[in-house]
Amino acid sequence: MLLNNALLLVLLVLAVAGGWTLGRSGLRMDMAGRAQLPSQYYRGFNFLLDGEEEDAVDAFTEALAVNEETLDTHIALGSVLRKRGEVDRAIRMHQNLLKRPQLSVVQLHQSHLELARDFIAAGLYDRAEQLLVDLAAQSSEFSATAQRHLLDVYEAQRDWSAAVTIAEELIARAESEGQSAAGHGQPAQQLRGHYLCELAEHAIESGGYDAAKSFYEQALRGQPQELRALMGIVRCALKDGDGTLAMTYFSRMMGSGRRCTPEMLGLLRDVCSAESDSDVYLSSLQQYYDQQHSPLLALALAEELAQQQGVEAARLFLRSTLDQYPSASVAASLALGGLESEQARPERDVLDQLIRNDHGYQCDHCGFSGKTRHWRCPGCRHWDSLHYRGGALEQLNGR
Ligand SMILES: [Zn+2]
Repeated sequence: MLLNNALLLVLLVLAVAGGWTLGRSGLRMDMAGRAQLPSQYYRGFNFLLDGEEEDAVDAFTEALAVNEETLDTHIALGSVLRKRGEVDRAIRMHQNLLKRPQLSVVQLHQSHLELARDFIAAGLYDRAEQLLVDLAAQSSEFSATAQRHLLDVYEAQRDWSAAVTIAEELIARAESEGQSAAGHGQPAQQLRGHYLCELAEHAIESGGYDAAKSFYEQALRGQPQELRALMGIVRCALKDGDGTLAMTYFSRMMGSGRRCTPEMLGLLRDVCSAESDSDVYLSSLQQYYDQQHSPLLALALAEELAQQQGVEAARLFLRSTLDQYPSASVAASLALGGLESEQARPERDVLDQLIRNDHGYQCDHCGFSGKTRHWRCPGCRHWDSLHYRGGALEQLNGR
């Protein structure tokens, strides 16, 4: 905060004094023809000497004329104010810019964009939306950026239909002009998929499984291995009692290369229990493990082997995996098998804890971690950036 204030003040003093030295920036000329610094400049210094930094910033801002040369300084100052949470002051500053006729059209659009960012920061989404819709239609320079911010507005309002429309416009822009033309941020195709999944989940809440299935299918258009939509369709197919369709989509999930998670395993169990063949769960687990040597799958497979072929078969299988795929949770599970006596309870508790701690989700983008999956990271608001992680050994092995 202090550093920001100090930097801000240095920036402003230099900008105002620079404008004076060059004899521009709208400074008045007195009768003798000498440029004079505006009175706000001296007021600013008085505030500074009295230790009143915020008043000093305001005084220097007033002293700084608005024109093509100083616009960037005003924009930078407004951005710092917004980031410091002083949104009201940022809004006043940007509204003031929009009243200046001497700015070019592009600079007015830039000021509009900043004002829309202020409104988003203040939670004034209706006002931000109106500005951004106009900007997207009128500005060629800031159109994609305005549409990206519109997505922020619609996400905040959970207006998923409007968000789908804007995402589709960004996809069309990326297809015709290249990905960079669609602005910064996550690919619009991926965002569109998640908005449609949100619509699907909303439909499920009111029992609309057919509508949900249609949304999931639309989400898969252009990204056929999208995990969230595939999981959604499997659930809808199970609800419909269509075990064949559920297994077809689950196989696509297995082939998507995404790491198996406890919820995916749970889904496989549900899909297999809908089949009449009791061996289908074991054979599916074996097929899945052949594709992905994850400790989670190894432990699930061992549990099923123990039930069908006995504990020794399960132990043999787990031991056979450790040479090639070392895993703390698999080793702990094997060690637990030899600790069944009451005296061994303390070490059993520690190993139990080790296995439990081995599971969780972590965001690739900001590092947020938790025990459950979020399709949108609570830390950084990225979509599908939380991934299932194993323990230290699994991470070393890249699984
Ligand atoms: Zn994150």
